[in-house]
This record gives sequence, structure tokens and C-alpha cells, in this order.
Amino acid sequence: MIEVIGHEQQRRLLAAKPAQSYLFVGPEGVGRRTVARWFAYGLNCERGFPPCGECASCRLEKHPDYLEISPRTTTRSGQTARRPQIRLEQIAPREGSEEPSLIEWMQTAPRFKAKVAVIDSAHLLGEQAANALLKLLEEPPSYGYVVLIAPVREAVLPTLASRSLTIGFGPAPMNELRRITSDEAALGYSEGAVGRLLKALAEPEKLRAAEDAAVAWLEALGDPAALLAQTRRLEQTSGEGFDPWVFVARRLESWPAAYRLAALEELQRLREELSAYVSAELAYTRLALAMRRIYAEMRSGSPVSR
Ligand SMILES: [Zn+2]
Repeated sequence: MIEVIGHEQQRRLLAAKPAQSYLFVGPEGVGRRTVARWFAYGLNCERGFPPCGECASCRLEKHPDYLEISPRTTTRSGQTARRPQIRLEQIAPREGSEEPSLIEWMQTAPRFKAKVAVIDSAHLLGEQAANALLKLLEEPPSYGYVVLIAPVREAVLPTLASRSLTIGFGPAPMNELRRITSDEAALGYSEGAVGRLLKALAEPEKLRAAEDAAVAWLEALGDPAALLAQTRRLEQTSGEGFDPWVFVARRLESWPAAYRLAALEELQRLREELSAYVSAELAYTRLALAMRRIYAEMRSGSPVSR
């Protein structure tokens, strides 16, 4: 049985089957994939929506009429890809490919009532793969549904987005999440995303390490050398699955608005610099200097300088 937290409006809309292709947009961990599965089970349930959890279709853990396609992280020769991508052979038949493609899978009739294919990270579709998918979206079989999943609509090729009904997914209200746990650190980390919350609850030690690193970073704000060292530590902790900057950002909420905004801008700039392959050390140093300045200005009550 699929447990979905929140997203009532989205599910009510889906239960009316308003389209055959959808684009689910929203932040990571917010429940887009879970709702897509729920939709597939509802379409195939003997009793319709919401899925009953008891019929022959609902009882299947792995459903033959549900397919998830996600970006490949290795190249055809088995090496790590520079950039994960959904490849043409995952969408359209190609000679020498072992797994059936989406289009082949979609050609055969469903075992129950409807087939649902989910394209996870649809913004990582290669150009040829996207064109092949477009044909399917234009003329899907009567039993076929496609759900594209992406962070935002703008990230997906306009040709695909315009043929899909976009449904937005936001964070779940905190009172919904409090039904799952009362762990404040995990709740804070989740930022309203059920997936993030469950991950935080599953690995409490790693979560704690990320929070400790965030606290140490904030305590080092007055001391440039210590701050640089703590920035390195924070970035290292990020690699372990939990982003400590989330805890930093939450604690900045107690700062007066002008200083908080200046600090958040600097954190954003760090992300941009790191993703633009600026030397990490250079980016950390810049951040440490800027943060020390903002912190000193806040302590002395002087306005934020730029
Ligand atoms: Zn059922």
C-alpha cells in the first residue's frame, strides 16, 4: 500500500485523469515519485481511486504496468559519465540494447488497466531521447500514461512541457510531518519534504554530524582562520548525504533581516562559484572573508556594506 503524505489537491486532480502526459515539478524529496506510483496504482485498482490496497493489482509490490526511467550515470563502455543523461536507447528501440525501451514497453497491452511510465529527471533527457519521447506524448496508446519529473517546468524542453499537464508539488505542511516524528532536527532538515525527512530519520548520526558542523561554523564567524577551516569541514560533511548549509540557513533566521539576506547571498554565491568550477579554496576564502565582514557589521550595528 502506498502511503502519501499531503498533496491532496494534486491527487484529487489526478484521480479525474485529466490528461495522458504530466509534468510533476517540485523540490527533491517532496513526493513527486510517490504520487506518480499512487497514480499508477489508482489507475489499475479494481475499485479505482484512491487505490484500495487490497485488490490483485494493489497487492503487487513490483507492478508490471509501472516503469521508472532514470538517468544513466555510466557510459555505454561502463565508465562514469561526466553528466548523467537519459539516453535514446532507454526511450526508443536500438539494436544491441539489452533492456526493452520505453516505447517497446508501451506497445504491449497492460496486465491490468493502464500503463504508467515515469521519466525521472526529465531535464536530463538527451536531445534524441527527447525527440523520441515527444512522438509517444503526441500519440500515446489509449491505456498509456507518461509522468515527467523535473525540478521546475523551465528545466524541461518546451516541446515536452507544452504537451504535458504541469502539476506543482510544494513542501508538506509541518503539522502533517509531525504525525511522522517529533524529532526537531529531522523536521528542520526536511524543509517540508517527506523524502528528506525519512532520510534524516534513517541516518540520525550523519544528520547530527551535519548539524554539529553547522554550529561550529557559526561559532567561528569572528575568527577568519577558524572560519576557513570550518568551511572546508562543512563542505566535506556535505558529501556524506546531508547538507549542513541547511542548518546554517535555519540558524541565520535569528539574525536581523538585512544581515541575514547578505549572508544568504554569500552562501548562494558559494554554490554558484563551486558549480562553475572556481577553485574551491578560493571560493571558501572569499566566503570566509565576506561572512566575517557581515558578522562584524552586525555586531557593531553598522549597516551592511557591499
Ligand atoms: Zn485496489
